[in-house]
Amino acid sequence: DSARRTEEPYCFFNPELLQSAISHIEMKYRLREALENEEFVLHYQPQVNIESGRVIGAEALLRWQHPDFGLVMPNEFIPLAEQTGIIGDIGEWVLLTACHQNARWQRQSDSKIRVAVNLSASQLFQAGFADMVSGVLRKTGLDPDCLELEITESMMIDTEKAIKILNELKSIGVHISIDDFGTGYSSLQYLRILPVDKLKIDRSFLTNVKDHSSDTAIVSAIIAMAQHLGLKVIAEGVETKEQLEFLRKERCDEIQGFLISKAVPANDWEKLSLLSYKGGIYG
Ligand code: C2E
Ligand code: MG
Ligand code: MG
Ligand code: MG
Repeated sequence: DSARRTEEPYCFFNPELLQSAISHIEMKYRLREALENEEFVLHYQPQVNIESGRVIGAEALLRWQHPDFGLVMPNEFIPLAEQTGIIGDIGEWVLLTACHQNARWQRQSDSKIRVAVNLSASQLFQAGFADMVSGVLRKTGLDPDCLELEITESMMIDTEKAIKILNELKSIGVHISIDDFGTGYSSLQYLRILPVDKLKIDRSFLTNVKDHSSDTAIVSAIIAMAQHLGLKVIAEGVETKEQLEFLRKERCDEIQGFLISKAVPANDWEKLSLLSYKGGIYG
């Protein structure tokens, strides 16, 4: 008797596992509820052409306006949305909302900007993804030239699968950029094969851009490589004038970062794009 009591019970569902299973299911439920209750919101961060100083694009960045916790940032819930499989539905909402907003801006003014939308791997490789994208463009009336899809290097590991879907997307006429460039899967081979239009230099390289640092060399090399491959290049996370001047000198095409503006709600966008047209953004 006493021997049996001290034995470790063999059990798949230990309390900890059960706990994580519950929160997993709860979280999936909460994220779906958030989608249905329209608790998600997109903020838009301007992308500026260095030479003209004009806003030429906006990256759509997802936030969760939680009734109790306030504004929740994407790094806190996107991994969970990916694990629970609900990222497909959230991602479709993001795409529809961003395209709809950009089409509305274009009807309201004669400026034509491109909206950039972040994709998750599971979303990109979901069956029928390209059809969903064309459906959204048709529904919103947005010119495919005014939509950019951001992928990351890790999505390119299965190169054949990536080429197939990216070619489908390119045939629709949308633009493709590689986000956080330099931090992921590092074979440069795929840059020659994949139909991408732009590299986004990860902001971790920008933080240390000072004279003679190795990050300075990396940023210069990425810009030069992009130019040789006929790709556009944007630096993200630009916070200082020194960084801007360095990027201008290296002939980087575009910048995005707190120096210009953080991401703002759609209602604040108009002011921001007007300001940039007056050229006042560099201070
Ligand atoms: P990301 O796509 O690399 O987006 C850039 C992130 O850097 C944003 O953070 C932005 O607010 C931040 N940032 C921009 N400029 C600066 C700067 O000058 N300094 C600093 N310190 N940060 C800057 P955010 O909005 O928190 O987004 C984090 C990540 O969440 C994004 O990184 C992206 O990977 C993911 N994400 C955001 N929205 C979506 C979405 O709709 N779908 C998916 N799948 N992922 C998303
Ligand atoms: Mg991005
Ligand atoms: Mg990035
Ligand atoms: Mg990222």
